[in-house]
Amino acid sequence: MVKEINIKTILNKNKTRDDLFLGNYTLNPYAGCSMACIYCYTRGSKYGGNYGVVVRAKSNAVTILKKQLKNSIRRNERGIIILGSAADPYPPVEKDLNLTREILGIIKRYKFPIHILTKSKLIIRDMDILDGIKEVAILPDELSDKLDNGVIMSFSFSTVDEKLSKIIEPGAPSPIARLETMKKYSEAGFKTGIINMPILPFLSDSEEDIKSMVKTAKKYGAHYVLYAGLTLYGNAPDDCKTLYFNFLRDNYPDLLLDYEKLFKGSIASPKSYQRDLGLRFNEVSNRYGIKNNIIN
Ligand code: SF4
Repeated sequence: MVKEINIKTILNKNKTRDDLFLGNYTLNPYAGCSMACIYCYTRGSKYGGNYGVVVRAKSNAVTILKKQLKNSIRRNERGIIILGSAADPYPPVEKDLNLTREILGIIKRYKFPIHILTKSKLIIRDMDILDGIKEVAILPDELSDKLDNGVIMSFSFSTVDEKLSKIIEPGAPSPIARLETMKKYSEAGFKTGIINMPILPFLSDSEEDIKSMVKTAKKYGAHYVLYAGLTLYGNAPDDCKTLYFNFLRDNYPDLLLDYEKLFKGSIASPKSYQRDLGLRFNEVSNRYGIKNNIIN
């Protein structure tokens, strides 16, 4: 289901560049996401939108973006735009609407660099425009010797296990489809990588799981693998914590107690778990010669 909405702003400026994704701005052509990942914290009540899996297309986005980019240039505020920080920029409906494609055309015209976050194979359609952005985008001075060009492309995964993905990411393309799409872009000279977010406790966080993720990433042309743990928010019916515990109850009832102990009513796992996860991830990445950051 798709609804069209009008918005007042489309380009949001971060106070400072975020170190992980390198974004100065965020931009979401759509609100809500039909990929319906059960762990998605942008659905449900966290941001007050209750967008759930209903996709809202920001139909006046192109007009508003032109104005905002012109203003940014006038203020000499260039920087990397994160496309898809809150909802995938390539939901299936994009195939007909071409909204993200039009937005990319504007970004190219104004020569802004971008970092696209997606799970979709539809991004392959826009290789021509992305090639153009790669040629013309003006990087911020402080990143000009750390990036080869102004297009970064990250494909997100919580697991490379096809069966598990089908349950927890029911509307998303399969992991292998995402990997093959990434490979095509990598072979075409783009900076591509994997975002292993969220890593699922007891399901995709073992050394073996991480090894499988890192080896697979490398095989399919990733230049980096970023990672983060799971956060579980809210008790409303559409909140990810509720959906995630329902998933555990239906599929892994033996893990319920482990999760309750790990999260103890908090939205995140304890610092000690996160530290161990980070050590494990860095160690495996070093072993396989893949970086955990984007810059050269
Ligand atoms: S693809 Fe991303 S935005 Fe869409 S539901 Fe999954 S995690 Fe959320």
